Amino acid sequence: MATGSSPARARLVIATLNPDKAGELAALLGDLPLEVVGLATIPGAALPPEGDESYAANALAKARAAARASNSLALADDSGLEVDALGGRPGVRSARYGGSGLSDADRCAALIAELKGMPSERWTARFRCVVALVSPDGREEVVEGVVEGIITEAVRGTGGFGYDPVFFYPPLGRTFAELDPAAKNRVSHRARAAAAAREVLKRWVSAAGRP
Ligand code: IMP
Repeated sequence: MATGSSPARARLVIATLNPDKAGELAALLGDLPLEVVGLATIPGAALPPEGDESYAANALAKARAAARASNSLALADDSGLEVDALGGRPGVRSARYGGSGLSDADRCAALIAELKGMPSERWTARFRCVVALVSPDGREEVVEGVVEGIITEAVRGTGGFGYDPVFFYPPLGRTFAELDPAAKNRVSHRARAAAAAREVLKRWVSAAGRP
């Protein structure tokens, strides 16, 4: 390499097979001095199945697997919806709520059906996102982001994914499915976790650049 040339940018693998989440996270981290790539670009990379123990355990397992397979920095998230009337369920089981083989629309319908008859003031809810960062030399950090809302009595809006059509966000007076992606990205649980992750990565990258 010629003297004085800039060093190669470190690579960050986003360890998710969900293209919606990969796109959201890549957009939120795009300004870092890192080459951000998806897991699909890493030959032979596979993610461990998610368990019911905790968001952090799931995110760490995925990030460790991606860091090992790629020999680069890896970021993974696990997220879920916590409804107060249900004691915080579906939580870490959000992607599997209602049984296997259900569509996002089916899960939203199942949630509204389960909440019917419960006091409306307990339909308060939050999305939580936990992000794990793992480096190939063994550093690990876990950060999280939360956004508070209220479950609606009927689906509203066609954007987003998952429970977005039933998640009403009071400060904007809309469900997440009624927001354009940029508006959701400014306030979402994933945006808040990604902002915290960005600070960790900035620290790691600047420490790596020091003699
Ligand atoms: P996981 O993080 O891939 O395990 O997914 C958790 C589940 O929570 C998803 O399948 C969605 O059902 C739900 N979820 C997580 N984040 C969001 C979001 O931003 N909007 C709607 N649903 C979400």
